[in-house]
Amino acid sequence: MAWDFSTEPEFQKKLDWVEEFCREEIEPLDLVFPYAVRSPDPRVRALVKPLQDEIKAQGLWAIFLDEELGGPGYGQLKLGLLNEILGRYGSAPQMFGAAAPDTGNMEILAAYGTEEQKERWLTPMLNQEMWSAYSMTEPQGGSDPNLFKTHAVRDGDEWVINGEKWFTSAGRVADLLFVMCTNGMFIVPRTTPGVEIQPEPRNHNHIIYNDVRVPLDHLLGPEDGAKVLAQRRLGGGRIHHAMRTIAQCKLAFDMMCERALSRESHGKIIADHQMVQEKIADSYASIRMLRLFVLETAWKID
Ligand SMILES: Cc1cc2nc3c(=O)[nH]c(=O)nc-3n(C[C@H](O)[C@H](O)[C@H](O)COP(=O)(O)OP(=O)(O)OC[C@H]3O[C@@H](n4cnc5c(N)ncnc54)[C@H](O)[C@@H]3O)c2cc1C
Repeated sequence: MAWDFSTEPEFQKKLDWVEEFCREEIEPLDLVFPYAVRSPDPRVRALVKPLQDEIKAQGLWAIFLDEELGGPGYGQLKLGLLNEILGRYGSAPQMFGAAAPDTGNMEILAAYGTEEQKERWLTPMLNQEMWSAYSMTEPQGGSDPNLFKTHAVRDGDEWVINGEKWFTSAGRVADLLFVMCTNGMFIVPRTTPGVEIQPEPRNHNHIIYNDVRVPLDHLLGPEDGAKVLAQRRLGGGRIHHAMRTIAQCKLAFDMMCERALSRESHGKIIADHQMVQEKIADSYASIRMLRLFVLETAWKID
């Protein structure tokens, strides 16, 4: 009967370290150089390297991978608590080698890739020498994979992919696109002829796959296995995303409290007005409920 909502003291020490590191090292860098990890300027990236070395020394690099996939195997609950901190700081997930959409893509590569595929793509992705995007959602369907139409046809030594995807986050700046087809998950280098990234929207990209040819070894996992792979990568992501959202809610909450204590109206700080207090109390309760709901889900998954 383990039902006491407490965190093991050893792990709490790690969380405390992460919190202080993010506040003292990552946040100041973020304010001056947002997205430093992927900056095209080598002088900015040079500022990132020593920070990432410290993270690695703490054993907190690529925390999302299970033990059998070569990671620390924290499980969903601990990962959730870590992401509750990382999500507050824009570049912290990338700084820790644990940013979406790469995490999910690395997870399916680690779980389903051949040794050759892992060496070719997983190792450089873990080292942040390659970046990826996940191309699943289509205009006519998102949460129901039975509506997807993008399909690959085998032609000799190649697969030929045709289809239309949107919401491929960071597709424009990815080296690799993980493309979910009705008959398999394919790894498509972004520069492959026929990958047509539409000019808008800028970040969550709309992509036409127009007779895109990839060699046979670009199929990841079994033929017809795309739904299983998609579940694998999205399952854990649900917890990480939710906890990072909670981190952003808590940041907004803190800003609201600061504002309530620093702003005056009608002769007193606005925190002294009853309705303002009520709104703060309601927000606190809502965030708390969501947090417990997500952590309970993580606990059940574990
Ligand atoms: C910021 C952002 C980034 C994204 N990044 C990516 C990405 O990198 N790659 C990618 O492939 N996609 C990405 N997506 C797309 C995302 O995966 C889809 O939005 C999601 O799968 C839902 O699909 P949909 O928007 O088409 O909604 P629909 O599937 O059309 O659903 C519409 C509504 O119906 C509800 N609904 C659907 N099914 C059920 C059900 N069974 N029970 C109850 N309610 C239901 C949904 O909650 C929703 O409100 C991103 C989306 C956002 C907002």
